[in-house]
Amino acid sequence: MKWSAMRNALAAALLFVAAGCPPVPPPTQPIQPTQPIQPTQPIQPTQPIQPTQPIQPTQPVSDCDRHLPLRVRFYDVAQALAALVTLPDGRTILVDAGDFSAREHCGPSCKTAHDHLVARLKADLQDHPIDLLWITHQHSDHMGGAEDVLKSFKVGVLVDNGLEPARQQTKATHDAASAGGVPSVAIDLDHRALPIADGAGVHLESLVPSKWPADCPPNANDCSIGLRIDYCASSILFTGDAEHLEEDAFTVRAATLLQLGHHGSDTSSSDSFIHRVAPKYAVISAGKPGEGTNRGYCHPRKSVVDRVTAALGGADGDPIVAFDAAVHCGQDAPANWPAVPASARLWATERDGDVVLVTTGDGTFTRELPPATTTTTTTTMPTTTPTPTTTPSTPPPAQP
Ligand SMILES: [Zn+2]
Repeated sequence: MKWSAMRNALAAALLFVAAGCPPVPPPTQPIQPTQPIQPTQPIQPTQPIQPTQPIQPTQPVSDCDRHLPLRVRFYDVAQALAALVTLPDGRTILVDAGDFSAREHCGPSCKTAHDHLVARLKADLQDHPIDLLWITHQHSDHMGGAEDVLKSFKVGVLVDNGLEPARQQTKATHDAASAGGVPSVAIDLDHRALPIADGAGVHLESLVPSKWPADCPPNANDCSIGLRIDYCASSILFTGDAEHLEEDAFTVRAATLLQLGHHGSDTSSSDSFIHRVAPKYAVISAGKPGEGTNRGYCHPRKSVVDRVTAALGGADGDPIVAFDAAVHCGQDAPANWPAVPASARLWATERDGDVVLVTTGDGTFTRELPPATTTTTTTTMPTTTPTPTTTPSTPPPAQP
């Protein structure tokens, strides 16, 4: 380079500095390449929203969860049957109406028994009607009190088996019903439906064989129409005076409480029948030894108390005085009426008086003692043992 050129370049440089040109900044840190952006995790689709459980409507309290009482009162009507059932909804059914108060050969027993029935019905019904009067058969110790019951109480409907319409007590009963405007309904082989409806948790059912036993008629006992009442896990079976032939003809299933047929007579409650019904509780409605018409019938029988006690699990209750049938009834002596060991779940009106049993539908029954004692028990029962009397001079006529 020539000297002049060098001089010009130097001059230009000095001019540049003099003009304030900023110094060149130090070199910055080399820019590090940024980390490659990692792809984000793919967005997982959200779980599908599960449909919420449909809101269940509030379940109504079941009829069995209400634990309402069903009460059955076996009245002490001597050698007869009358049992008032009060359903959980308050409706009432009277199964048989005891004997005719002025029955021949009965003495004061039938009047005393009928007066007791009327008094108890007045107290227990409290002006409520008898919604259904159910007569199992036409014998006096079941139908005899019906005429007066129909005249004394408001009755919804009368049921019987439709047989023997011309019989005096049958006619009087139907006449009393007609006079009171009470409809009469026959339950028989072709008509099994009850004239009143089932209730809450309650099913009502007639018990009629597929055909009447060979001895029906003339044996009215074997023409009995039974009544079954189911209330949740509890059930009651009434069989009137059905004897072995009709028991064999019945189609039955297990029942919790059984009214023993024919007042505990050994013509009823066969081994087979008791096995099929398999009751947990049982009631005998019978008169005391030597009382009224029971002078001629001698109910209950020792063999039945033994058999039913065994079926109920053994003798763990107070004894029941029963006829051992070693001699003919009517020739009996006190020795023929032993105190028979019995189950605490077997009651007898001859020993216990009125037997009031209550269930809440749970498959158990509890005996309810009269209000005066208020205690409720299933095991404590009166220990009174009736004293048999001597042979009556005038036994009543043949077997009802
Ligand atoms: Zn009877």
